[in-house]
Amino acid sequence: MSKGNIGVSSENIFPIIKKFLYSDHEIFLRELVSNAVDASQKLKTLSSVGEFKGEIGDLKVKIAIDPKEKTLTISDRGVGMTAEEIEKYINQIAFSGAEEFLDKYKTDAHAIIGHFGLGFYSSFMVAKKVEIHTLSHKEGAQAVKWSCDGSPEYTIDEIKKEDRGTDIVLYIDDENKQFLEKAEITRLLNKYCRFLPIEVTFGKKTE
Ligand code: ADP
Ligand code: MG
Repeated sequence: MSKGNIGVSSENIFPIIKKFLYSDHEIFLRELVSNAVDASQKLKTLSSVGEFKGEIGDLKVKIAIDPKEKTLTISDRGVGMTAEEIEKYINQIAFSGAEEFLDKYKTDAHAIIGHFGLGFYSSFMVAKKVEIHTLSHKEGAQAVKWSCDGSPEYTIDEIKKEDRGTDIVLYIDDENKQFLEKAEITRLLNKYCRFLPIEVTFGKKTE
């Protein structure tokens, strides 16, 4: 297991996210689904240029609610990430000058998130803990789990994961319980996730 602190000058990132983006918190789903779609599209591209030689298989993005665990999970079978890639693309988020920018644009969460590539971190608007379970498409890759409870500290552990790709697991906090409801997720998918190049399916976890 390894531990670390997220990013340069990002100690304040979580309160900032909650404070300024709160009114628009439902967009977290669009951000996570678009990352899942991007990862799936990347795999297709790698396959078409011969850099990925395996079976592409089913690329559907799947969304599931577990009411008992109070989790919402977004799963893809895209490129996945290695521990090094998590370090680079998730942990080392550049956030300089963010406070100033957020002050100026606080009415437009869209602009902020686009500008800072804060897409993934928008998940902390609705979750008290977020996990990334991921297995890279790269040959011989080791699956890893990244976990962060909303403080700047995170942990990374090696895990077993059979399927290539990424599961983003959100432990939904008490103020955002509506995101554990089927009707609400369906509404958001209709609002933000139509006409995507990869199919998105939604079903309640039954086990
Ligand atoms: P952006 O999408 O603008 O790059 P994000 O914060 O949404 O910013 O995501 C940061 C990075 O994390 C992505 O560029 C990608 O490298 C990686 N990432 C996020 N979600 C996934 C995923 N589901 N599969 C693979 N990589 C991902
Ligand atoms: Mg994104």
